[in-house]
Amino acid sequence: MATSPLLKSSKLGIYSRQCLKTLSSRRTFTTQLTEQQQSIQELARNFANEHLKPVAAKHDTEARFPFEPIKKLANLGLMGACVSKENGGLGLDYLSLALAVEELSRGCASTGMVLTIHNFLYLNLVNEKGTDKQKEIFLNDFTKGALGSFALSEPGAGTDVAGIQTRATLDGDYWVLNGKKTWVTNAIEGKGLITFATIDPELRHKGLACFLIPMETDGVFRGKKERIMSVRAATACPVTLEDVRIPRDYIVGAPGEGFRIAMEQLDQARIGIAAHAVGIAQSALDTAISYAKKREAFGKPLSRLASVKDRLTEMCMLVETARLATYRAAVDVSTKNSAMAKYLAGRNATAVADHCVQILGGRGLSVNYDAERHYRDARGTQIYGGVTDIQKRLVGHYLLKEHDAL
Ligand SMILES: Cc1cc2nc3c(=O)[nH]c(=O)nc-3n(C[C@H](O)[C@H](O)[C@H](O)COP(=O)(O)OP(=O)(O)OC[C@H]3O[C@@H](n4cnc5c(N)ncnc54)[C@H](O)[C@@H]3O)c2cc1C
Repeated sequence: MATSPLLKSSKLGIYSRQCLKTLSSRRTFTTQLTEQQQSIQELARNFANEHLKPVAAKHDTEARFPFEPIKKLANLGLMGACVSKENGGLGLDYLSLALAVEELSRGCASTGMVLTIHNFLYLNLVNEKGTDKQKEIFLNDFTKGALGSFALSEPGAGTDVAGIQTRATLDGDYWVLNGKKTWVTNAIEGKGLITFATIDPELRHKGLACFLIPMETDGVFRGKKERIMSVRAATACPVTLEDVRIPRDYIVGAPGEGFRIAMEQLDQARIGIAAHAVGIAQSALDTAISYAKKREAFGKPLSRLASVKDRLTEMCMLVETARLATYRAAVDVSTKNSAMAKYLAGRNATAVADHCVQILGGRGLSVNYDAERHYRDARGTQIYGGVTDIQKRLVGHYLLKEHDAL
């Protein structure tokens, strides 16, 4: 692997462990991007313009996994963005990663999705919660291009995580896992799997535990790639676990801690999905502006019609508010901030993409233009990483708690 230009800079790569906390301690938020954050943003922006934008539509149409871009991103170090330098990563903070995800998703939503799941859900969990031995096996190769997955959802347990039925039983020095996971992003191409299973379904969330499984372990069966409306070049598939035996020390934390571990990781992932949604929304806004400036109606460009300008203005405000909420969540991590960012970014991206389709008129519905892809991609961000409906409930719940604490 070529040394990343980011690693060469003395100003870059200061790793600080970012402890998750449930309650936010601040009502206000101000930040300016540091030099390091600006250089990540620029790097990802240039990468997206050069390597993603030109192929995004083709990859989407062919539902082709973006192997080449992901390999190049690994060479830049971005497939190990927040992993500490001693473990082979860039040691970046969450905001830097969010900036990269935003820019890359602007270029290609599917690539942004692959990067988000790999970094925010897989790598950061192993990096922050894994033992030294676990890091050796499940981290090092994964900063260099091997992909990781996070299998929480099941056919009968999506939003209702406590309803997980995959069973884990201890047999001497081994855990034996049996069950069915669904919608596992990166599983087809991936080499490592984080999963959650119950030691006793009657205990509901108190019975959950988190496990690390090498994908090639006997008994791990990956199903067919799901055909989906959004992020079509990324892959999600079912994973069946049949008498999967893993060493006893491949458990993360203790039995019973799985629910907390999953929720903490989802707080992080929602920052990533929010950034991904902001990137898609920005791309829809850019598409709409370019089109409105060129297309003429009633003797002038669309951009000079009051109603079109109003739509563009509305789109701009939706993008900016979502972006602010996302950056805030990345520097002040709490359940409320992450849920609020994901809620706003997913909802706003969908509205922005809808305006984009409208501004392109008939061409907005044509597969030969980007608007319909942005529309499909934006919609997905309200589902994966936790549905919009539950984000709103989380914000409401923590709003009242924080009010008491402040
Ligand atoms: C492209 C894609 C990639 C994905 N990748 C992954 C992955 O890598 N790993 C993984 O574990 N999962 C993944 N998922 C699964 C995703 O996280 C779930 O689809 C999502 O959490 C919703 O679960 P569900 O589909 O079972 O919907 P359900 O939980 O059945 O919810 C359906 C609807 O019911 C309502 N609802 C349900 N519960 C509540 C509630 N408590 N409050 C309010 N409304 C509620 C909402 O309107 C919701 O939209 C992925 C999904 C997709 C589509």
